[in-house]
Amino acid sequence: QHSQSHFSASPEAMAFIQKEHRFLIGDQWLPASDGETLTVYNPANGEQITQVPAGKKEDMDRAVAMARQTFDDSDWSRVKPVDRQKRLWDFADLIEKNARLLAEIESIDNGKSVVIAEHVDIRLAVDFLRYMAGFATKIEGRSVDVSVPFMPDAQFHGYTRREAVGVVGAIVAWNFPLLLACWKLGPALATGCTVVLKPAEETPLTALKLAELALEAGYPPGVVNVVTGIGHEAGAALSQHPDVDKLTFTGSTEVGKLIGKAAMNSMTRVTLELGGKSPTIVLPDADLETAVQGAANAIFFNHGQVCCAGSRLYVHKKHFENVVADISSIAENMTLGSGLNPDAHMGPLVSARQQERVCGYIEQGLQSGATITTGQYKADGPGFFVKPTVMTNVNHNDSVVKEEIFGPVLVAMPFDDIDEAVRIANDSQYGLGASIWSNNLSEVHRMIPRIKSGSVWVNCHTALDPALPFGGFKQSGLGREMGSDVIEHYTEVKSVLMSI
Ligand code: NAD
Repeated sequence: QHSQSHFSASPEAMAFIQKEHRFLIGDQWLPASDGETLTVYNPANGEQITQVPAGKKEDMDRAVAMARQTFDDSDWSRVKPVDRQKRLWDFADLIEKNARLLAEIESIDNGKSVVIAEHVDIRLAVDFLRYMAGFATKIEGRSVDVSVPFMPDAQFHGYTRREAVGVVGAIVAWNFPLLLACWKLGPALATGCTVVLKPAEETPLTALKLAELALEAGYPPGVVNVVTGIGHEAGAALSQHPDVDKLTFTGSTEVGKLIGKAAMNSMTRVTLELGGKSPTIVLPDADLETAVQGAANAIFFNHGQVCCAGSRLYVHKKHFENVVADISSIAENMTLGSGLNPDAHMGPLVSARQQERVCGYIEQGLQSGATITTGQYKADGPGFFVKPTVMTNVNHNDSVVKEEIFGPVLVAMPFDDIDEAVRIANDSQYGLGASIWSNNLSEVHRMIPRIKSGSVWVNCHTALDPALPFGGFKQSGLGREMGSDVIEHYTEVKSVLMSI
């Protein structure tokens, strides 16, 4: 079903969306240097909703210079850790206070449910910023007992310091626009860095609102700069800028590789959170009701536009037919509609391009002999909708099994035994997440070390907590977000050796 009824956002959200947007460099709200703008669409009906500036290299140069100067020459570097902690907590409070407004803007910009945006995206962002705030006062070096072999008579005092890495260039994807931005801002602001953030061209709006809230929270101008623009223009300029000390990127593996190469040209520190094709593995003794609902959520949450979506389903052969039938029936009964419609189970994909891409994959699957157990996949009417789709009769070499579709498309295959399950689960260029559904804890514990992925969930999928690091093995990325581990990526270690 596809609900076309019209739902509207609050006047505050509409006023923000429709205002004349500018981006933030220092304390100045600016248009693009050449005056060009980008059109932003509402994916639920395909209509244009607003324009934002299309930043170019000149704009990025200006933003990076501002961030550089603020890091090197302003009082920001002398702000006490406890005050950085307080400031970040205040920022989180402001985001929480504006949660509904931000959720509505996100929903109209991205297509996701306003309820999910408020209670998942923004809740996680606020919790994460508060978790990071605590780290501002807990950045520590070590004292090291030192003896230098060729200076036998000398005594030393040796220690390490962890220092803010400097100017952070952050480039993010459109699937969780505000949350991904906060995954970068949190550690940067906790450690005392300055930031230039470039949101995705499809979803620039909540980043601009975040920039406003950062100023309101009391961040000195130049600490948080946000420049909107197209990837190969603004994004490329930021990633190639020699004055950026650290790049942090969330997006596709293809673009991640470009960013990694650009970073190496100037030895810019870099972390990459990239694509995935995560397996959901249902063992023979799983609680099937939980596993079926869990596997459906693993792929259909956020319309499958989740880097760690459970997009490959492997079920023990004795349950395969039943599990696939039950997930297909969940898919058949999902209502599609605008993110503002409280009764819709799934919204539109983010763009016409993404809709085409996902449908293209389904067609490729059908051509290579796959069966769709959930009927027609392209929804009628305006808006970029694709119906939740389950595919069987697929081969491990098919593009639908190997490549990231990034839409509500599940490929399902049976397995005979645990060794086969582990082998096919690992047979991927990606390694972001995996879930195992079972009540046999011994079996599960034996499997966990064999699974090549940054996260392993047991009887759940895409469960995230700020205290647990998140990131990829293999081509799913480099480095980690969240957890205490992320602090290492936003600091440099300095060794100090003092002859006493
Ligand atoms: P994308 O790589 O096309 O774009 C991501 C960002 O990079 C955007 O801001 C874009 O403007 C910018 N960009 C594009 N070309 C660029 C270039 N040449 N130089 C610099 N910047 C450039 O990805 P997407 O389609 O927006 O997002 C979907 C992808 O993101 C999926 O592969 C998904 O798995 C991945 N993702 C990963 C995580 C994670 O944490 N691992 C989280 C969310 C999304």
